[in-house]
Amino acid sequence: MIALESFKKLLNSPKKIVITTHHKPDADALGSSLGMANYLVKKNHEVTVVTPSDYPSFLYWMKGNDEVLNFEEENHKKEIVKRVNQAEIIICLDFSCLSRINELGEMVRRSQAFKVNIDHHQDPEDFADFRYWSTQAAATCELVYDLIVKIGDKKLIDEDIAECLYSGIMTDTGGFKHPNTTKHVHLVTAELIGLGADNAKISRLIYDTNSVNRLKFIGFALSRRLVILNELNTAYFWISKKDLKKYDSQTGDTEGLVNYALSLDGIKIAALFTERKEAVKISFRSTEDIAVNKFAAKYFNGGGHKNAAGGKSDLTLKETLEKFEKLIKENQDRLLNQLELVNEKH
Ligand code: 5GP
Ligand code: MN
Repeated sequence: MIALESFKKLLNSPKKIVITTHHKPDADALGSSLGMANYLVKKNHEVTVVTPSDYPSFLYWMKGNDEVLNFEEENHKKEIVKRVNQAEIIICLDFSCLSRINELGEMVRRSQAFKVNIDHHQDPEDFADFRYWSTQAAATCELVYDLIVKIGDKKLIDEDIAECLYSGIMTDTGGFKHPNTTKHVHLVTAELIGLGADNAKISRLIYDTNSVNRLKFIGFALSRRLVILNELNTAYFWISKKDLKKYDSQTGDTEGLVNYALSLDGIKIAALFTERKEAVKISFRSTEDIAVNKFAAKYFNGGGHKNAAGGKSDLTLKETLEKFEKLIKENQDRLLNQLELVNEKH
């Protein structure tokens, strides 16, 4: 743990720190970033949180949200470049490959700053001076909590920090339902509640602040955009650009939709295909030992966790769906039995 000691030592005097996280941050990405930022501010550092894109409005309540700089906003770009260039420490949270943060990735790679990577995804890229990484962790927020405790600063975790960290653990465990909900998760969660996190309030803010449009959109998707392939234990949603426009879809509005497909009795593999500007964005979910991250990595330029992964496709939406159905058919037994996937024939 020499690297941890170096990091701890660096934190002993005020530093210029940049914290960044993955594209389209979710509650774990933003919660770990703002939790870490609020902690480091208390230790007298000058901290900037930079996101590669915007994120859902149901996360705006987190302390420090108003100072977050978004790389996609033209009037933030110059400031971000300046702060990344001046940074003495750069902390990358909830992602493990620099390509996940788009253009920012190369800036981080080139920087001379001391780099920290805190994450729970598979196959991390080796770019950090200090890596605090475990695929056993349910959430990056859980790792940030563990790290602050390890540094000996548990006393600095106040209500705001506890609420940021609680959020990511709650969402990345699917509300304490997924198999990653370990005893340690419950112990950390209990500590965070003890430190002031209001669990019922956070649940309401994140899950129960839907717009009418969003609920109508979910109803539309359930009735018109759900394809069930019972014989393949698979179900998926497809959402076109037109659908998104019709329901005035906002960032975060498709979040959680894929879980409805997985909630069907007998369904073990679920997916959501969303036709975005740049490409078709895909979310995969699975039950049991089916490793959708391997499937996403092999065929859809993606990755993630065993039961929750993502990827993208440059084909049209229709072609992507055909490719997916074909690959699921070809690989059904292999997916269910954790065997090597077949080579793509496209
Ligand atoms: P979601 O479906 O919620 O967007 O993502 C599920 C999981 O897969 C998350 O842990 C996320 O970080 C990961 N993931 C989503 N999209 C991609 C992608 O394009 N590439 C990689 N490597 N991981 C992804
Ligand atoms: Mn996460």
